[in-house]
Amino acid sequence: MTKKQTIFSAIQPSGELHIGNYLGALKNFVELQDKYDCFFFIADYHSISGEYNPKEKSKQIFDLALDFLAIGLDPQKCTIAVQSQIPEHTELAWIFNTVTPLAELQRMTQFKDKSQNQDQNINMGLLDYPVLQAADILIYKAYGVPVGQDQIQHIELTRKIARFFNNKFGETFPEPKDLITKTPKIMSLIDPTKKMSKSHGKKSCIGINDEPEMIKKKMRKAVSTTEYNEDIYSFYASLLENFGTEKNKKYFLEQFKNKDIKFSELKDALAEDISNHFKDFREKRKELEKDPEKVKNILSEGAEKARVIAKKTMREVKEKVGVIMG
Ligand code: AMP
Repeated sequence: MTKKQTIFSAIQPSGELHIGNYLGALKNFVELQDKYDCFFFIADYHSISGEYNPKEKSKQIFDLALDFLAIGLDPQKCTIAVQSQIPEHTELAWIFNTVTPLAELQRMTQFKDKSQNQDQNINMGLLDYPVLQAADILIYKAYGVPVGQDQIQHIELTRKIARFFNNKFGETFPEPKDLITKTPKIMSLIDPTKKMSKSHGKKSCIGINDEPEMIKKKMRKAVSTTEYNEDIYSFYASLLENFGTEKNKKYFLEQFKNKDIKFSELKDALAEDISNHFKDFREKRKELEKDPEKVKNILSEGAEKARVIAKKTMREVKEKVGVIMG
């Protein structure tokens, strides 16, 4: 039997997941677990480079584990683990720091955006984030990384870091591909020129765990227009494509074609379709929440499995770098 190729991706535990995270990443995770050897991580060390409350972090980690499991990630098929539980990730990141030019990190658009959003806390972690991300991916020698569009630049840098390392120390790491979904960038509910993001506030996002009433409320407050507007039209078209029932798709796409959309009607229909799409997820999540021990066990078993590979890669890296005495 040929060995399955490895997939790695991670999400930060930094608040509720939104439908952008779902369409850009999570939905793809669920599909990939059947075909590949998948590692899906909760990137807690990444998340502490942003503003956060330490008292809330462990709940955020637990909540993200619930999201992973309730959406359909199956620990029998894939490895689910928490980044900080495998210290080899940060160890490898240090070694990668020594082959990564500072200028590569300074030009990252996410670093620039985040520095603007938290201008009183431009910490080294914010700058070094893509190096730790490269270590996360390369420690498992991943072939592919399912991510949203905002991460493509980081994956490109991961490939460069693999090259920098290989050139200096000999062929060790593969150059991973980004695996993009057909909707790699969902826009904000209140400003369709910006991506949907937790950092733009809850009003800009529909949470995958939002109750139907909340979804309806947020949808009703979402942008609309009396004249044709490309950004607004394509925003609603992408929601319809991904969540609409066949009947609603047919009915509203006709309105789109005629450039005559009845927004109040469309928004209520979409709210209902999105709520229904995540109905099973919400129920499964509530069930799982009652059994925190089960969730914690899944995470520790995942960490154990991941650590075996991470240790093996680190041993190889240390030998190549010359820090193991013969
Ligand atoms: P993060 O919150 O940065 O950990 O993002 C988790 C995953 O969701 C990453 O793969 C992102 O690329 C993806 N993602 C975040 N926001 C969006 C969005 N608005 N549309 C599509 N994908 C997104």
